[in-house]
Amino acid sequence: MFALVDGWNFFASCTRLFDPSLAGRPLVIAGSNDGCVIARSDEARALGIKMGQPLFEVRRDFRNSGVVARSANFNLFGMLSSRMMTIAAELGTSWHDYSIDEGFAGMDGVPGNLVQRGRDKREKIEQWLGLPTGIGIGRTRTLAKLANHVAKSAQRKPGSYPADLAQVCDLANLPASDFDAVLAATDLGDIWGIGKRISAQLQADGLHTALDVANMDAAMVRRRWSVVLERTVRELQGQACIPFEDVTDGKKEIMCSRSFGRPVTELQDLVEAVTEFAGRAAEKLRKQEGRAGQVLTFIRTSPFREADRQYSRSITMPLRRPTADTGLIAQSAIQGLKVIFRQGYNYAKAGVMLLDLQDGSVEQWELDLDTPRQDRSALMTTMDRINMKYGRGTLQLASAGSGGAARRFSVRAEHRSGDHMTSWSQLPIARA
Ligand SMILES: [Mg+2]
Repeated sequence: MFALVDGWNFFASCTRLFDPSLAGRPLVIAGSNDGCVIARSDEARALGIKMGQPLFEVRRDFRNSGVVARSANFNLFGMLSSRMMTIAAELGTSWHDYSIDEGFAGMDGVPGNLVQRGRDKREKIEQWLGLPTGIGIGRTRTLAKLANHVAKSAQRKPGSYPADLAQVCDLANLPASDFDAVLAATDLGDIWGIGKRISAQLQADGLHTALDVANMDAAMVRRRWSVVLERTVRELQGQACIPFEDVTDGKKEIMCSRSFGRPVTELQDLVEAVTEFAGRAAEKLRKQEGRAGQVLTFIRTSPFREADRQYSRSITMPLRRPTADTGLIAQSAIQGLKVIFRQGYNYAKAGVMLLDLQDGSVEQWELDLDTPRQDRSALMTTMDRINMKYGRGTLQLASAGSGGAARRFSVRAEHRSGDHMTSWSQLPIARA
């Protein structure tokens, strides 16, 4: 049994948190250099503003709609994400980060009414952090994801699903006929793991809803389609069979994280782990021909080892320019790690997340007189080929990044919300 906890409009919600004047207004968050929309509030979505839409277009076309644009502040998002995950992890008996605003709680052996438990946790996150979330519960990760979709849609689009499934939805707790009705009301394109291409093929075959997919014969699906789709079908039927990947990717970020088999206490061990995670995330990034503008590193003790002193911290380092170079990404991750590392804790988990993802076709250079430009893309391609041929990790960085000369980062962010959680000078002041 799994529960998926999902931060709603996460970047927009984080930005509003410290600027109440943005409440109720159409808000868009712009990615690096204020180029494109990477997040929207419900109001902005309702206006028809699209993800990825260039900011100049939004300014031009929605001039009279009161749209407010803010630059992404990944450091703030990362800090709030860490705190949200720490509370969300209390939901179950294990925890897996999935993205910056989503994670899976393992719910096996959790007693009591899960919907009530979910509502309590949701309320705690709202109260402690001011962030809205949704929770989906199901027998498999695919069903938990689907339940989350239901929880969100029932809230946002009244009438799409029964109102009592809003905010927290437990699909495992529904009578069979209600469960089927929910699946029948869900477009098959909204199923986790079914992409646009497969979705179009299934529709051409006369299938339209999640119920249609759940009713397919798994063995036939393997023969006619693929093992991947077969797994999705089985998961919809309630049989957990998708293994949890330690590298996950999405439009917003690529993450590599892992729980350690035994507690880790030394910085050097964490450096090695973080170097490996950075390398694997960067490899995935190159595969999708992208670049990252920011690198988030986190370390955490285990909330399930209650006797341990707890510590959880993340840091986001901007890259000097967007890159997919393993060396540069690992170097940033290690620099970040050294800032957040504290001696004397039993670390149970670390991770690296690549944020502010951009299309690799967009080149961006700045006037840079002190370092000669190094193009290592050929080196990266060679490294990827060798690793593909001889297995993961055949070739990786020998050590933590070298160099480390003081860098000046120059990311343009004119309308950035403040560093309210990391800078004393920007601490908000409340007057009573
Ligand atoms: Mg979300």
